Amino acid sequence: PVVLGIESTCDETAAALIQGDNLLSNVVASSMDQHARYGGVIPEIASRAHAESFVPVVSRALYEADMDLAQVDAIAVSAGPGLAGCLAVGVSGAKALAWAAKKPLYGINHVIGHIAVTQLQFGPFPDNTLALIVSGGHTSLLHVRDIARQVDVVGSTLDDAAGECFDKIARLLGFPYPGGPHIDRHARLGNPGAIRVPQGLTKGKAGAEHPYDFSFSGVKTAVARWIENQEAAGREIPVDDVCASLADSVSSVLTRKAVAACERFDSDTLIVGGGFSANSQLRTGLREAGEREGIKVRIPRIELCTDNGAMVAMLGVNLVRAGIRPSAPDFPIDSAMPMDKIVM
Ligand code: ATP
Ligand code: MG
Ligand code: FE
Repeated sequence: PVVLGIESTCDETAAALIQGDNLLSNVVASSMDQHARYGGVIPEIASRAHAESFVPVVSRALYEADMDLAQVDAIAVSAGPGLAGCLAVGVSGAKALAWAAKKPLYGINHVIGHIAVTQLQFGPFPDNTLALIVSGGHTSLLHVRDIARQVDVVGSTLDDAAGECFDKIARLLGFPYPGGPHIDRHARLGNPGAIRVPQGLTKGKAGAEHPYDFSFSGVKTAVARWIENQEAAGREIPVDDVCASLADSVSSVLTRKAVAACERFDSDTLIVGGGFSANSQLRTGLREAGEREGIKVRIPRIELCTDNGAMVAMLGVNLVRAGIRPSAPDFPIDSAMPMDKIVM
C-alpha cells in the first residue's frame, strides 16, 4: 500500500510517503530554533509553527514522492502522545485531507511509530521482539507481539525520561535546547569515571529493584548538585567529564535493563527507537552488549530516530496490511495515549 504519514506531536511538522517498504519521501520542518532561547518547547509556539508548516510539508512530501493524494491508499497521523495543541493541528489537517480525498485515516500512537520505523532499515520484526524506546518524553521497554495488534509495556521510567534528564543538565551547563546532542559531543572527550553518578535504578517497597523500570530524576539531581557545589567552591566545571560520566551512567542502565528484558522474554532481537537513540554512548553500549549476549540490536540511522513522518507512515502500512479498521471520523487526540494502544 501507499501510505501518507503525518507527524506533529511536538516541535517537528513532518510528512512522508511509503509505498510497501520503500520510503519515497520524508520531509521534516522543525520549530526547534524558535524554542532554543526558552530552554524547552513552548507549546503555543510549536502549535503555531505546525499550522504554518502543515500544508507546505505535506505538499513537499507528495511532490518529492511524485504522487498526488488520489494515489494514496491511506493516511496515518500521530494522535498521541504529545502536546495537545500540536496534535490538534496535525490531526485536524489529516482529517481534512482524508475527508476531501475520501481516504481511510488512522490516528496512530507516535511511540509505536518509533518502533515501526526500524522496518525501513531492517525489515519485518521476528516474533517475540523487544523494543527500547528512549526520547525526550519517554523511556520504556515494550514487548512487541504484533506491531499492528499487540504491544505490551514491560517497564517505563517512573519519573524523568532519559532525554529530559540530558536536556536539563545541558541547560545547567549552558547548552541551548535540545541539549542532548551537546552532551553527546562533549562526552566523547571526557572521562566517564571522573564523577560518581548514581545509576538510574528503582527499588520497590521491599527494597527489591524493579527489574525493567527506570528512574532518572535522582541522576539529574545528583549531577545538578555536583555542578552547584563546584560552582559554590569557585572551581571550574570539567564539562567533558561531567558529560561523559552522565552519559555512561544513563547508557549503561538502559543497556543493562534492555538486555535483562530480552532474557526474560527469550527474545533475540532488540529494536531501539526515539530521539535519544541517536546518542552515541548508548548506541555503542547496546551494540557491544548485543554482541556479547547474542542479541541482534536494531538501531536505525539517526534521521529515523528523531521525530519524522516515516515512522507514522510505516506503522500505517502495518495497519493496512493487517486489515485493521481505520479510526472513526470523529476520533479524538490523546496527549497521554497509553503505550499499549496502537491506534485510536
Ligand atoms: P516523544 O517521542 O517521547 O514524544 P520527543 O518528541 O521530545 O518525545 P524525540 O524528538 O524523539 O522526542 O527526541 C528528542 C530528545 O532526544 C531530546 O531530549 C534530545 O535531547 C534527545 N537527543 C537527540 N539526539 C541526542 C543525542 N545524540 N544524545 C542524547 N540525546 C539526544
Ligand atoms: Mg522533537
Ligand atoms: Fe518522538
